[in-house]
Amino acid sequence: MRKGWPGAALAAALVTSVLSPPAAGAAARHHTYRFPIAHCAVSYAHYHHDYPATDIIVAKGCSFVAPIAGTVDEVSRHDHWHAGTDRGAARGGRSVSIVGTDGVRYYGAHLSHVADGIRPGVHVKRGQLLGRTGESGNASGPHLHFGISWPTRDGIWWVRRGEVWPWRYLDAWRQHTDKSPVRAVRRALHDAGRRVPRCHVDC
Ligand SMILES: [Zn+2]
Repeated sequence: MRKGWPGAALAAALVTSVLSPPAAGAAARHHTYRFPIAHCAVSYAHYHHDYPATDIIVAKGCSFVAPIAGTVDEVSRHDHWHAGTDRGAARGGRSVSIVGTDGVRYYGAHLSHVADGIRPGVHVKRGQLLGRTGESGNASGPHLHFGISWPTRDGIWWVRRGEVWPWRYLDAWRQHTDKSPVRAVRRALHDAGRRVPRCHVDC
């Protein structure tokens, strides 16, 4: 940094404020994660058919929100699913995935609506509205299919739909406790052996 540069003092002050711990009592407890449904009653089983994910039973029109700050990954604004073909890529109906600041991908599917302004590359805050719950795609009733995975290139829906069991994290976030899936996702990626493994089930 150039000495005497007019912005130097400001820049130094910014660095100080970013790197310094907050003064004691200055802020309430800080959370990185939150439960991905806001303002609605939910229930979910510690179970999912065939591969790791969680189906969160919730009324239609409830808020699907970002469980962590991050960047929008893939967005499907339209429901292209047909029972006759049941294409894997279309099963989620309207959906949004984000890649969190923790490097983990979070996916919510069967939405009735994707929120305005939610498109790939957009930065989202923790708790920001991503869409409204519904039953688009291959869903027998309103629920949020929630998947946790590692990021891939676009279109790898069999990874995006879920690679680690989410309920340990959902249980914690529901109790307003931070719990990170980073290590579990890293382990799952290691076990898969590659970022884009073959689809093995429900392909
Ligand atoms: Zn599901």
